[in-house]
Amino acid sequence: MGKVQGTDISALVEEMTNAGFGHLEESILQCSDCALREGATNPVIMKGSRTPRVLFIGEAPGKTEDMTGIPFTGRAGKKLDEMIEYMSLADDDYAVINAVKCRPPNNRKPLKGEIEMCRPFLMAQIKMLDPQVIILLGNTAEEAFCRSKKLEWGIPKVSDGISIVKIYHPAAMIYQRSRIEEQKALIDKNRQLWE
Ligand code: SF4
Repeated sequence: MGKVQGTDISALVEEMTNAGFGHLEESILQCSDCALREGATNPVIMKGSRTPRVLFIGEAPGKTEDMTGIPFTGRAGKKLDEMIEYMSLADDDYAVINAVKCRPPNNRKPLKGEIEMCRPFLMAQIKMLDPQVIILLGNTAEEAFCRSKKLEWGIPKVSDGISIVKIYHPAAMIYQRSRIEEQKALIDKNRQLWE
């Protein structure tokens, strides 16, 4: 689609938002603006409600997500499901997206340039989904959304009327079991944001 680069993406985001979900999804499916598309099977767009109170933002698709085209369907997805249950969210309450839509090779972290290229899609999705709470799943989601590291773990900030909080990426629960209790504590101290 040849998105514009640079810091001012607001006009492009506005245009995509006004064009609606179908147009945005088609634009993502057709996009080859960064090298990630070459190695990806399916761009991964979103799952969940189109009118969520809570929007989870992860990093990038993994192997299972790349095959299914659905975010958080692999092992990390099971951990996210457990988190969502612990948060007492119903299916209509939330949506899940990623900072970048195409799978990085060998599950490496997306590069800054890749995150930047995909950012108009991310910001258009946020605008269209219009959540009350954004939960950033790890540092890459924070870097993509904030363009830098600005948040402390579990300490919410309000921006444009949206509460934003950073907690651990669900994959951290797989490899560091001590993170499970830490994650529960971060969730417990922020429950008032979505309850
Ligand atoms: S990761 Fe984003 S910018 Fe890169 S090709 Fe996929 S949709 Fe386009």
